[in-house]
Amino acid sequence: MVTAGITLASCSKEENGDDFEFVVEKFGDYQVLRYPVLGWDSLPGQQKEFIYYLSQAAIQGRDILFDQNYKHNLTIRRTLEAIYNNYKGDREDADFKALEEYMKMVWFNNGIHNDNSSDKFYPALTEEAYVKLLSEVPDAALPMNKGENREIFTLRTSTIIFDKTFETKRVNQAEGEDLIKTSACNYYGDGVTQAEVEEFYDAMKDPEDKTPVSYGLNSKLVKEDGLVKEKIYKIGGMYGEALEKIVYWLEKAEKVADTDHQKQTLAYLIDYYKTGDLKTFDDFNISWVKDLESHTDFVNGFTETYGDPLGLKASWESVVNFKNDAATGRTETISDNAQWFEDHSPIDDKFKKKEVKGVTAKVITVAMLAGDCYPSTPIGINLPNADWIRKDHGSKSVTIENITYAYDRASAGSGMLDEFVYSKDEKERAKKYGFMTHNLMVDMHECLGHGSGQLMPGVTGDELKAYGATIEETRADLFSIYYLGDPKMVELGLLPDDEAYKAEYEGYIRNGMMLQLNRVKPGKKIEQTHMRNRQLIASWVYEHGKDDKVVEKKVKDGKTYFVVNDHRQMRALLGQLLKEIQRIKSTGDYEAGKALVEKYAVKVDPKLHEEVLARYEALDLASHKGFINPKFVPVMEGGKIVDVQLDYTEGYTEQMLRYSKENSHLPNYN
Ligand code: ZN
Repeated sequence: MVTAGITLASCSKEENGDDFEFVVEKFGDYQVLRYPVLGWDSLPGQQKEFIYYLSQAAIQGRDILFDQNYKHNLTIRRTLEAIYNNYKGDREDADFKALEEYMKMVWFNNGIHNDNSSDKFYPALTEEAYVKLLSEVPDAALPMNKGENREIFTLRTSTIIFDKTFETKRVNQAEGEDLIKTSACNYYGDGVTQAEVEEFYDAMKDPEDKTPVSYGLNSKLVKEDGLVKEKIYKIGGMYGEALEKIVYWLEKAEKVADTDHQKQTLAYLIDYYKTGDLKTFDDFNISWVKDLESHTDFVNGFTETYGDPLGLKASWESVVNFKNDAATGRTETISDNAQWFEDHSPIDDKFKKKEVKGVTAKVITVAMLAGDCYPSTPIGINLPNADWIRKDHGSKSVTIENITYAYDRASAGSGMLDEFVYSKDEKERAKKYGFMTHNLMVDMHECLGHGSGQLMPGVTGDELKAYGATIEETRADLFSIYYLGDPKMVELGLLPDDEAYKAEYEGYIRNGMMLQLNRVKPGKKIEQTHMRNRQLIASWVYEHGKDDKVVEKKVKDGKTYFVVNDHRQMRALLGQLLKEIQRIKSTGDYEAGKALVEKYAVKVDPKLHEEVLARYEALDLASHKGFINPKFVPVMEGGKIVDVQLDYTEGYTEQMLRYSKENSHLPNYN
């Protein structure tokens, strides 16, 4: 779960969503969205310029990720684009449309394997139709290898695209198989086995080293003349053509950095790209994690290791952002009042902390997504990844609020509220307050909920065993939503009026009783911790308020709804449950914890489940969502940048083709 929130006061009309087009397009099971860079206009010129340079550095890494995902990805992408750009026939033709959709999927997944499942996907046209479309493209426009003729090129790309037995899994994690040989990702060369990889890196490790580098992070392991060796990602090495461009822009950014500290951080990064030295990468990370002063910030590098079945090698990604002062101010307000909340909590006094400290979460606004964060993006980031750096120097945890905001606004038009909300009042409250109150709910959960309360002497916290995580999340959620309905929220300026909290109460019940069942397969129980805790709270409140109809189940035209009739009484019930959950936690009462979870959190009503799945299906929502970036338009005067404007009019295809045309410098085959 992530922290998120938004304040729109300082934004222009175009940015704040009245005229903003959040949904760019939908194709197949994919939806492409656009995010507004809220607060951009009020940034100082120096910060705009800095972000502009880093955004250009970010685009330059796109090819790297394509190639890391699969060694033929760049060839396929370029071939599809060549067909698309050179096609002279009817653009409404079914085969051409199918090829176009496949190209859009390849862009979206940064390759021919699905971003989530890592399975190869296939176009909805025949191999013959593909060959025919390809035959109309002039030789010069095709990314053929040296010495390759058209016949061989056609056969090669056909196999890559259509053969359902050829390199079909990007990351294989099936026990007992050679994970390197059976994975199509490009972190290991032909003929390298899992045993060889393990042997190679085991030999590098020194068990005494308390500050080990991230071995293998920035290289491809290949076998040449029977010898296993690394090809390092660096200028002059593998991906050098792209890294050179990245460094070109980083060096420009360095000159307009926010602070000397940030300048030093960039200097480490540049040096690392030049040398490939992983010690320098650690220096960079330590410097980066300690930079809490700069208003702008970025991720740029070989970062996450999910794409390597052995979890050693990192995919390239970039995120460029600046601090959302208003939202971060909100988490500060919560933190500053941590003791008040603790003192007034409805739990038994002996379980309260005498001295409590809130956590402040940093909320950011993203201005550019790239590499493994584009177009499919995380909504929260926690870095760096090296365990010893996290332990010795800390980590930075951020939530990206303009992305969650865009998700929220885009889903407003999806028909979800119309389908699952009973009354007009409730729908209006959800639209008006839903996003704001949900963000505040998450903030309270993260900043205060987990840190509240104390264990009795002799209790270690492990007593609840497998039920511990669900009880803990239940506790944090309850602490949060209980207080959402407190007048203190309005008093502190965290909510605008005493009507707002109702939106979250209603949304919580709706989700906990029904909506989240959409993520459970038919016949299955609820497994995921957060889903369990939400159903626990919602169904406990429903059961205990049944006589007074605090929450009422209504059926209209064969459709089920859960309606909150009495928000004040619901709050009292939340307080009552929080009191009991805290007692269970503080005393380590395993039996009571188990009983609550088993009774309220796990079981699914099969009839209601079936109904929810059917209603979702009818809404036809895309299961893959991603974002395109704004286009940065520098305003020049006498050779100097005096302002940078953001253009939100670019389409999905336009942006992808622009990136491919202007920012693609790697050869086809590495
Ligand atoms: Zn939590």
